[in-house]
Amino acid sequence: MKSPRAEPAKLGIHAATKVYQTASGDLLALDGCELAIGKNEIVSIVGPSGCGKTTLLWSMSGLHRLTSGQITLDGEPITGPHPDISLVFQDANLLPWRNLDANINFPFEIKGTRPDRAWIEHLLHQVGLEGFGGKYPRELSGGMQQRAAMVRALSLKPSVLLMDEPFGALDSFTREEMNRLVEDIWLDSPTTIVFITHSVEEAVFLSDRVVVLTPRPGKVASEYRVPFERPRTLEIMATREVFDLTNAIKMDIVGGRVRKERSRTAEAAA
Ligand code: ADP
Ligand code: MG
Repeated sequence: MKSPRAEPAKLGIHAATKVYQTASGDLLALDGCELAIGKNEIVSIVGPSGCGKTTLLWSMSGLHRLTSGQITLDGEPITGPHPDISLVFQDANLLPWRNLDANINFPFEIKGTRPDRAWIEHLLHQVGLEGFGGKYPRELSGGMQQRAAMVRALSLKPSVLLMDEPFGALDSFTREEMNRLVEDIWLDSPTTIVFITHSVEEAVFLSDRVVVLTPRPGKVASEYRVPFERPRTLEIMATREVFDLTNAIKMDIVGGRVRKERSRTAEAAA
């Protein structure tokens, strides 16, 4: 698979700054975040808890306004929810009173458009949920619910898929299975994916590039290319190169945290 990076930015994040007004005053969550994501690239965003990852992803989805700066899709500013952009959250967010088919149909009912049944059947087959359309969310395991959420997101044929710690609540085996599934789906029909995770291993497995954010206020601290070929087999993932890259990213995240604490201590002492 060739690197898709030569094409113009699919998603552009330009000086993204977000201030939340809270009871105890203004809270700067993002501060001048700059990032360009290529067409059909998979980019993971990692960084300490509370550094603004979710804030950034919601801004990319258009669900959430930046205080200043801009998000662009194919060069056009995003000003609200966009039909080309789908989201998957940590919680599958299936409606408990609807079966799986009805859950997948829900966004189409809202939009008043007709779903592409053949495409949905293809997706259900791909994620191993063929024949489960009549089941209710409570009848499905956490992993199956998350697969259903992926089918629902992809059924809309987005050109950008945003995922916010989608497998964070799953056990590690299911999580690995889900990672392979995302890779399979992407190899079958490439799309641009922005993936937020706590897990550096998951980020390295899935991504073309891993972006590390600084502690809050979040901005890009560093970026790592992940040059390993796909599919990323167990053999590839067990190599020294993968191990070294994973550790370098982890050290970077921990280092950022330590630098931040040192500067706080210095400020307090001054
Ligand atoms: P992450 O996803 O990296 O853990 P978030 O983007 O959720 O970080 O949050 C970044 C910072 O903004 C945190 O300090 C969080 O408490 C704060 N925050 C997030 N959402 C809101 C909100 N709606 N109102 C006020 N503060 C918020
Ligand atoms: Mg978050």
